[in-house]
Amino acid sequence: VLNEAGRVEMDAAIMDGRGLEAGAVAALSNIANPIRLARLVLTDARHLMYVADGALRFAERHGVARVTDDYFMTAERLLEFEKAQKPDFEAPAHNAPDKHGTIGAVARDLAGNLAAATSTGGTTAKALGRVGDSPIIGAGVWADDATCAVSCTGTGEAFMRTVLAKTMADHMELLGLDGPTAADAGLDYLVRRAQGRGGFILVDHDGRCSARFTTRRMIHGWIERGGETQCRL
Ligand code: ASP
Repeated sequence: VLNEAGRVEMDAAIMDGRGLEAGAVAALSNIANPIRLARLVLTDARHLMYVADGALRFAERHGVARVTDDYFMTAERLLEFEKAQKPDFEAPAHNAPDKHGTIGAVARDLAGNLAAATSTGGTTAKALGRVGDSPIIGAGVWADDATCAVSCTGTGEAFMRTVLAKTMADHMELLGLDGPTAADAGLDYLVRRAQGRGGFILVDHDGRCSARFTTRRMIHGWIERGGETQCRL
């Protein structure tokens, strides 16, 4: 996904539900795998979130190599960017979220530990320096062994305004809901309070997987209790 300047700026965060430890990077350029850098922040940094030049400096100090912008360019993204230059381009906030490039993962291990990760290039033609929900703990990503792990995708501003991932965890903790019921309540809250568009994946402390979205589709897959791998396009 290219920003208004035709450059790639990415956001990513990862969270370990055992002790609410997290690492995040935002407005980051020229790093091939932002989620790996976020993990390094989680394990090795003094702080929780690094942005822009500071994130690059952290990467350099930890021996993470830079790549040039060409590394990220694909014909599809360049075309999208060209379309975004036209005066009738639909504002990014109303773009179909199934056209965005966010990747999310949530997991529960055998011991019941939860973890979540979200990584994104953001929304097409976003302003320089715009940061979405993906690296914001509690908005686009959340993991707490006591409740659930969540990763979101969609128009980030709505997910930030509703602090959606943490809101669903709170529904579980404070109202005693299970994951799938909290997921229903979360989607309802997103739409009702912020006219939000997008979706999320959630795994609860018992290992129940949920995926909810307002969009036509959201590519996702899951495996539950050693059963079959499921995939939905
Ligand atoms: N949530 C991301 C953002 O707003 C975009 C997406 O999920 O497609 O940056």
